Order: sequence, then structure tokens, then C-alpha cells
Amino acid sequence: MGKVLNHANIPLERSHYDLVIVGAGMLGLSLAFWLRTLAPQHSVLVVEEGGIPRERGATQNRSGIFAPLKQDNQTEFVWDTLQNIARVTQIQRPYDPVFQPCGAVHLARAGNPIPFSQPVQHNLEQLLDMQNYAGATWQPQAGYGSPSSVALHFGFGAVAQGADLMLNARAVAGTAQTLCLERLDIDNTMRVHVSRCDLVTYDRLVVAAGAWSAGWLEQNMHISSDIPVRYVQHLRLDEKIPLERSGTEVNLPVVLVDGFRLRPHFGGVLLELPDLPTVVAPNIQHIPTGGTLEGVEVGLCSAALEGMLNHLEHMPMLGSEHLFLGKTSLDLMGSWQVAQDLPSWCKIANGLYTLLGGKQTFERGLAVARDLAVALL
Ligand SMILES: Cc1cc2nc3c(=O)[nH]c(=O)nc-3n(C[C@H](O)[C@H](O)[C@H](O)COP(=O)(O)OP(=O)(O)OC[C@H]3O[C@@H](n4cnc5c(N)ncnc54)[C@H](O)[C@@H]3O)c2cc1C
Repeated sequence: MGKVLNHANIPLERSHYDLVIVGAGMLGLSLAFWLRTLAPQHSVLVVEEGGIPRERGATQNRSGIFAPLKQDNQTEFVWDTLQNIARVTQIQRPYDPVFQPCGAVHLARAGNPIPFSQPVQHNLEQLLDMQNYAGATWQPQAGYGSPSSVALHFGFGAVAQGADLMLNARAVAGTAQTLCLERLDIDNTMRVHVSRCDLVTYDRLVVAAGAWSAGWLEQNMHISSDIPVRYVQHLRLDEKIPLERSGTEVNLPVVLVDGFRLRPHFGGVLLELPDLPTVVAPNIQHIPTGGTLEGVEVGLCSAALEGMLNHLEHMPMLGSEHLFLGKTSLDLMGSWQVAQDLPSWCKIANGLYTLLGGKQTFERGLAVARDLAVALL
């Protein structure tokens, strides 16, 4: 069993690890789990600046849709893992939302229709002007789940397998193969300060710091990486859609339409916007401000708002009163995310790797993390 060092007062007992992972998002935690499972002789430390999952991290703020564009060994592996996560990680979290393997419908303007059951047809009509969509295809191997829950299963699993997890600690690179772990604490005026620094040496380092990775590599290693990122907010439709399941069928599957991806969410619907503007090396400490719609301030940032307005004509639901736009960006949680299509790992220098997410992280991230674990054996 590893240790969870969640407070600055808990000392780090080791001064060397075979592998240190910077960032405890879904990718960093699953890498720690796979490596300890495949090679328990490797000592592993995961360092996380916040908690798990971090409120501002991509893992916390994403929709967790599994609807791969292409099926292959990676997506098969993740599909099986998501459905058997308690067995795979040996962690029971009975109150977490479970993965819903409900299939996905891809709506198109032309093509052949498919017959939906009456409740599914009814719900689709509530959301979309179905007259616009003559064709549809059905993807049976699709569903939705909670990325945070996946991260927690793998995080607890990694610790159960012997990895150490240090929370509330900022990793800063020191001289060769050394990290300074700034243990953060909060004082009674709510100011976060560095309470102490622990030095640790490592053989190999994996930067799995999500959208912070580019800045981390540049500031700490003087490596310029040009990792594109974008700020992602998910829209919410508060249309009341009672989610029911009869046998294997739910009354609203995942819906892919005009570049949007929709999934049921707490009695409403979560909408993922189509492509958002990408930036390289932005100031990601800065949260984009909300836009204004007809002079009224909304929480959706201006770039996302513009993207949404382009679709108003075909998707009347976006113009309905059920669309929740919030008053400030705090009402509509979002996060900076790595803006590549596929999650990936890369060896940058001897003993230095990156493990980065991308649009298809929920479909492939766990497999990519496992591939890296195998490469590190
Ligand atoms: C438009 C768009 C749509 C997307 N859609 C999907 C989707 O449908 N499904 C999907 O699965 N994914 C999707 N993604 C991608 C997904 O959000 C991310 O790829 C994934 O969650 C990233 O997980 P992570 O572990 O890499 O990063 P994160 O969850 O961001 O974790 C990184 C962690 O590193 C920590 N950290 C940073 N710096 C330091 C430091 N110095 N010291 C210690 N810790 C540090 C942070 O606190 C953070 O917790 C989408 C992305 C985009 C842009």
C-alpha cells in the first residue's frame, strides 16, 4: 500500500523514486496504476498541485462521452475497462456514477433513417428539429460516464498497488533529475503559501500536467513544446428529460449532431460544442471572460458563444429558454484542455516523457497511459 501525502505536515519518507509523475488527472493516475500493476518493483510518486480531481483540471470539467470515431484495440480496451472498472482497479466506489453503455446516434441531413423506440424518438424531438435530419446511424459501442470517477478509481487503485500520491504540492524542477516539491498550505486569511519544500530525485519523469504541461516544460526544463490548448465550457440544457432504462435501452442515448455531442446529465442534457479556437502558449492562469448576448452578460466565454450562435438556425434548442448560459464564467465551469485529437505520450529527452490528453481522452486515454507504462518497463 502506498501513502497519500495530502497535507504539508505529512513528511515524504523517500528521497528517490524510479518514476515521478507530475499531475494527477485521469492520465497521470492511470499511468501510476498500470505501472505499479505491471511492475510492482518500480517506485512511483504522483505529485498534484490541487486535490483529485482538481477543480480546474480537464478531468473534472469534461463530459466523458465514449463514442470513438474509429474502433480499434485501444477503444476496445477502454470500453471493457470502463464497464468493469471496479474489478480492474479492485476499488469499490458504490456511490459514484457508473458508466452507461447506452449507444450513440449520429444524425445527418441526408441518408437513411433508423427506427427509434417511442421514448427515444420523443426525447430527440424535444431537443432537435428532427425534420432537419433525414438520416441516422447507430453506434452500439458508445456511452457516457464520469471522468472524475474514473480518475478516483485509478488514483485509489494506484495507491492500493503501492504508488505514493502527494496532493497540494507543486512540482518544480531542480538541478539534474531532482524535483522540488512545494508543499502548499492555506493560512487563516485563505492565502495559499509554500509551507516547505521536499527534494526528491528520480530516474524518469512523466509530465502529465494537462494544459499546464507546455508552461511547465518551458519554465522548468527550458523546452519549448508548442502544445495547443483551448478553453472548453460545456453548455447545459435544463430541459427535463427523465432518464429511464428498460433492459439495455435508455430513453436518450449519446447524440452526435452538427459537430455537437450531447449526453444526458442530471435530468437535463450536456452539450459539447464543436471545435473551439485553439491557442498556443496562452496565459492559462487566466479564465476567459463571459460574452454578452443581446447586451446581457452570460457565463459562456465569447469564443464559445460565437461558435454556438452559428448553429442557432438548425438547432432550435439552443435558442430555447432551457439553455443555461449563466451570468459569469463561474456559473459555467470550464477548463483549459490540450487541443489535439488523440491523447498521446512522447519521449522528449532521456528519462523525460509527456502524457497528454486530447479530444478522445475518454475513449483512448486509459489505453495510451497503459502503452506508456509498458514502454517504461
Ligand atoms: C473540445 C474538447 C472536447 C473534449 N472532449 C472530450 C471528451 O469528450 N471526452 C474526453 O474524454 N476528453 C475530452 N477532451 C479532453 C480531456 O478533457 C482531457 O484530455 C483530459 O481530461 C485530460 O486529463 P489529464 O490527466 O491529461 O489532465 P488534467 O485533468 O488537467 O490533469 C492535469 C493535472 O496536473 C496538475 N498540475 C499542473 N501543473 C502541476 C505542477 N506544477 N505540479 C503538480 N501538479 C500539476 C493539475 O493540477 C491537474 O490536476 C476534450 C478536449 C477538448 C479540447
